[in-house]
Amino acid sequence: MKKERFKVSITCKNCGERFILRGNRGGKGTIETGFKQCLCNNVEDFNIQTEELEQA
Ligand SMILES: [Zn+2]
Repeated sequence: MKKERFKVSITCKNCGERFILRGNRGGKGTIETGFKQCLCNNVEDFNIQTEELEQA
């Protein structure tokens, strides 16, 4: 089974902190990163960009 991997850039709209994470495609077309919240306790106001990574 092929596993799709993504690079996920998350920018907090509240404080501007940026997080670069690896994500896998979860069920229902969502991308699982394990990201919970920003350092400033913001949990929902983010700018999220995903980029598909090439398979080796
Ligand atoms: Zn923040």
